[in-house]
Amino acid sequence: MSENASPLQYSDVEQAARRIEGAAHRTPVLSSRTADGIAGANLFFKCENFQRMGAFKFRGAYNAIAKFTDAQRQAGVLTFSSGNHAQAIALSAKLAGIRAAIIMPNDAPALKVQATKGYGGEVIFYDRYTENREEIGQRLARERGMTLIPPYDHPDVIAGQGTAAKELFDEAGELDVLLVPLGGGGLLAGCALAASQLSPNCKIIGVEPEAGNDGQQSLRSGAIVDIGVPQTIADGAQTSHLGRHNFAVIQRLVDDIVTVSDAQLVETMKFLAERMKMIVEPTGCLAAAAALQGVYPAGGEPLAGKKVGILISGGNVDLGRFASLVAG
Ligand SMILES: *Cc1c(COP(=O)(O)O)cnc(C)c1O
Repeated sequence: MSENASPLQYSDVEQAARRIEGAAHRTPVLSSRTADGIAGANLFFKCENFQRMGAFKFRGAYNAIAKFTDAQRQAGVLTFSSGNHAQAIALSAKLAGIRAAIIMPNDAPALKVQATKGYGGEVIFYDRYTENREEIGQRLARERGMTLIPPYDHPDVIAGQGTAAKELFDEAGELDVLLVPLGGGGLLAGCALAASQLSPNCKIIGVEPEAGNDGQQSLRSGAIVDIGVPQTIADGAQTSHLGRHNFAVIQRLVDDIVTVSDAQLVETMKFLAERMKMIVEPTGCLAAAAALQGVYPAGGEPLAGKKVGILISGGNVDLGRFASLVAG
């Protein structure tokens, strides 16, 4: 696994942007007067639900694999993921012409398992409540010589995810606030690196599910807090702790972390479908929920008149599950 000796910086995001150019979509930045009216602000939605394989994770995975040596390409890539990173690795490996093995929880959404297999990835199941996926990953990496690219705790993954925010700043200009969904912290750390150069006065806010507020606890206490697997409909953010590389960047560059409830995520799914004609998965709604449900800023400076970036992180949800969530 490659480790940068020096701390991650904006130039890592810039290099990633060059590597993924032509492979990743430059996703649209959308606006909605109705949403602006609700938030009392000027909102810029960066729509990674329209990214290849349906989420921003393609950016980090493709960037990491693009840096492989010939020997690494020969043995292939290995990862563990609850879904979107699995598809991202499987698709990126397919594009690079290398093998991919994916360790997935046996309760992962069917759509995500199918999609991973569809991209040619070999799926290896485990029980996320009794087994440790990191241990399984390290054992398989040893046995097969494959390179492990974890879903968030890796410099090349972080740099790749940051290209989403780089594109947003390139298109919308500097922002006052950027709201970013938070699981293990790949997206948030990468976006914070992009902002540090392109919009240095922008407040960077992570948004987590209420049940999984380990990131908020970690930022406030100054050390990584592990809370066990949280129960939330935001399956892409069911991480129990931030990554090491992620926390280093988040501590340095992120202003605050707020939380939203599952009910607020469902309301936001409905809003994005009805008013913006978008299918967004529960985790993908985290940042939008913070702005539209009055979560951010809590008692702080109001958003009124501000330019606010909202990262819509993904759209991979079974239609049946989508329907039952928004109907309930
Ligand atoms: C993975 C994922 C997240 C969380 O990203 P991290 O880099 O783990 O913080 C948010 N939304 C979606 C759709 C995801 O797939």
